[in-house]
Amino acid sequence: MQDKIIFAASSPDPTALQASWQQQLSNAIRDPAALCTRLGLPEAWLPGASAGHALFGICVPDAFLRRMTPGDPSDPLLRQILPLGEETVTPPGFVADPLEEADHQPAKGLIHKYAGRVLFIASPTCAINCRYCFRRHFPYSENAPSRAQWQEALDYLRADTSIHEAILSGGDPLAANDRQLAWLVEQLESIPHLKRLRIHTRLPVVIPDRVDDALLGWLASTRLQKVVVLHINHANEIDQAVVDACTRLKQAGATLLNQSVLLRGVNDDVTTLATLSERVFEAGILPYYLHVLDPVQGAAHFDVDDEQARELLAGLRDVLPGFLLPRLVREIPGEASKTPL
Ligand SMILES: *Cc1c(COP(=O)(O)O)cnc(C)c1O
Ligand code: SF4
Repeated sequence: MQDKIIFAASSPDPTALQASWQQQLSNAIRDPAALCTRLGLPEAWLPGASAGHALFGICVPDAFLRRMTPGDPSDPLLRQILPLGEETVTPPGFVADPLEEADHQPAKGLIHKYAGRVLFIASPTCAINCRYCFRRHFPYSENAPSRAQWQEALDYLRADTSIHEAILSGGDPLAANDRQLAWLVEQLESIPHLKRLRIHTRLPVVIPDRVDDALLGWLASTRLQKVVVLHINHANEIDQAVVDACTRLKQAGATLLNQSVLLRGVNDDVTTLATLSERVFEAGILPYYLHVLDPVQGAAHFDVDDEQARELLAGLRDVLPGFLLPRLVREIPGEASKTPL
């Protein structure tokens, strides 16, 4: 998609023969019929999948697809990416911009809602399209700043000494190329009051090969403290390649956290959530947030009501050590932080 990064591709080791992450991303399945064929789903799924796809296109790379069970329409990874006819249903309260982020943009591509930290829309795209995503209606084309536009955001950060943390988000910030990211991080680290760089990404999970030498180069060398917040909703998302990618991120000095979304039909029971926390920790990641669904149009069929969400958390508390318990939160427009349930 973006410029190809050429790595030091000198050694004839077998991994050099694998497709680069960019190739894997451009080979992602983006068509409902291809998805149904690839996973052996009955033709009956196609009309619904096509209706949902027309609202928010399918995107799923093979590295993620491989972790699904073919022929199982209730596979918890498949449910996150398979468009459904239900997405055309628009119950009251489920809106296009549930977080009202359009109101908090001091510069193009920059969201400043919470004290001490700002969020950059560092890339307009993702490596996977998650059906429940609150950004499914986001006006990304208006939020893919050029370097000149980044200057405006960087000037804002320089001028506000209360900001200590820059969060790269998106879309998925790691869908941007490393030249761009290295430049942005270099700009950020030149701001004296900035202490931390946080990256909110699903790419190391979706395409573990994204965590390559080019990425590790700029990540390891920045003076900023580094936190990578991954997004994993089900233990089946973590295979050995993901564990290895996490190990590389940690070796580059990053603290790894995970945020999940509570999703009906994917992870809405205590055993599944407890297994997720255990598996996440085995991969060197600590659970951070468990978000209740943002009421975004097209995702109502994933909703778990608040009472059930609280019961699930209580159930988790009974079986997990405290440090494996995520914080159950909701994002409420206008609040100064995420709100615990
Ligand atoms: C979630 C979020 C953050 C980070 O919040 P933490 O509680 O620090 O994880 C920052 N800015 C925006 C706009 C957010 O939505
Ligand atoms: S922003 Fe995150 S949740 Fe939304 S589609 Fe992209 S990867 Fe999925």
